[in-house]
Amino acid sequence: MHLKNKYVLAIDQGTTSSRAILFNRQGAIITVAQKTFQQYFPNPGWVEHDPNEIWYTQSSVIKEAMAKADASESHIACIGIANQRETTIIWDKETGFPVYNAIVWQDRRTSDYCEVLKDNGYAENIRQKTGLVIDAYFSATKIKWILDNVKGIRERAERGELCFGTVDTWLIWKLTKGERFITDITNASRTMLFNIHTQQWDKELLELFTVPASMLPEVVSCSEVYAESKGSLFKSGIPISGMAGDQQAALFGQLCLEEGMIKTTYGTGCFMILNTGCKPVFSQNHLLTTIGWKIDDKITYALEGSVFVGGAAIQWLRDGIELIPNAAVSEQMAKSVSGNGGVYFVPALTGLGAPYWDQYARGMIIGITRGTTAAHITRAALEGISYQVYDVLMAMENDITYKPKEIRVDGGAIANNFLMQFQADVSRRPVVRPKVLETTALGAAYLAGLAVGYWKDTNELKEQWALDKVFKPEMKKEQADRLLTEWHKAVDSARRWALPNETNK
Ligand code: ADP
Repeated sequence: MHLKNKYVLAIDQGTTSSRAILFNRQGAIITVAQKTFQQYFPNPGWVEHDPNEIWYTQSSVIKEAMAKADASESHIACIGIANQRETTIIWDKETGFPVYNAIVWQDRRTSDYCEVLKDNGYAENIRQKTGLVIDAYFSATKIKWILDNVKGIRERAERGELCFGTVDTWLIWKLTKGERFITDITNASRTMLFNIHTQQWDKELLELFTVPASMLPEVVSCSEVYAESKGSLFKSGIPISGMAGDQQAALFGQLCLEEGMIKTTYGTGCFMILNTGCKPVFSQNHLLTTIGWKIDDKITYALEGSVFVGGAAIQWLRDGIELIPNAAVSEQMAKSVSGNGGVYFVPALTGLGAPYWDQYARGMIIGITRGTTAAHITRAALEGISYQVYDVLMAMENDITYKPKEIRVDGGAIANNFLMQFQADVSRRPVVRPKVLETTALGAAYLAGLAVGYWKDTNELKEQWALDKVFKPEMKKEQADRLLTEWHKAVDSARRWALPNETNK
């Protein structure tokens, strides 16, 4: 079959589900398959996944997506991978068995250790080398935790018997039956062990976190043929040729290819990323400097602000307190009241990410009166998501010399028109929703397809971007300002709530 008539298989391994999508040359979705998997919460603030379940769900959705399209191996031009980042897996080099569950990016178990690092003055050095803020979010302290706490593991790691990988590394290891032990540079840049200037694992940081270098994968670019998937899922061998962390993949999939372009993903968390071009911008406002992608030898840098709980606040209303029957209904409920009724919901359920970086903040609903209804609380949750994204946008603008003119959006929660309109209102600029909502998978597909000549270049891709809807700001500035002032008052009250050994307030 001619290359151009084939499909690209995109793997989108997310925090709550594994997905596989087939795209054609127009960047249109042919089929999608998705499976959720178990979330483990063994202790307050801990979040784990079973790495084998990640692989089983991922491989089964790959087969399902292909079967739905009636596609055999010969119909697949190449495979691209986008994945939940920072999530840490350690496994045995020989057997491929994980030695512990995957510690998920949301997991807070190493917060106290991060405070110790900060108290000992490591913040600036780590920021300069990695572009990151010291936080339990990143892989380094999670690796150290496994080495320190799972019996016999440190000795085995020191003997060179173990592999560490983020989910990209784990998947490509599985897809190649252990032949390739690699990570792409965007995932590497989120481990807090990778020097984004030298583009190498940093010896000093490996020492600090007591991580043996032998555990680490080789770092590769985002778009090149890494291997053929053969022997595990596929018989004939399909090139795996694109890889990026999910947020970077989404930035690419949104075709934010020029400096100054910005996208926000509204999934479990919210992730705003700004393309800062060929130079890293170091934030004065607690944002992360990260690698957007590396294609050929050219690196594009990005500035990122991550909000830990975005759509997950709605998930919590649904599953945690069973206030709403499903996520979609939150839109009608929010619209059913004329305002928030003075209620503010700070969704700091796992602490606050950018720009606050407060590991000890906790979720709070404040302003409740006798007149407060479920609709007000639901509306406050959606508004809380938008305010957090606004705070990141303001931090970003303070780090650069221009104002990004619009926000491109993607992720599961952007189906919510109330949320999108409110975001435009408080941010005072257009929120732009594209037609293809699967931008993370699309980014992985683009990266993979470019490497094998399925698409010629990024100019060809740019022509594919299509608009669904622009949400323009409608709210009066005074009203937005008033809401934001109250929101910030609420944030102040939620901060440092769970700080150990301190009377809370
Ligand atoms: P992830 O990739 O992080 O697993 P998704 O991009 O699939 O997440 O988005 C799912 C999240 O979006 C969930 O947290 C869910 O609560 C939220 N969500 C889905 N639909 C809506 C909606 N209509 N309104 C608000 N939130 C929604």
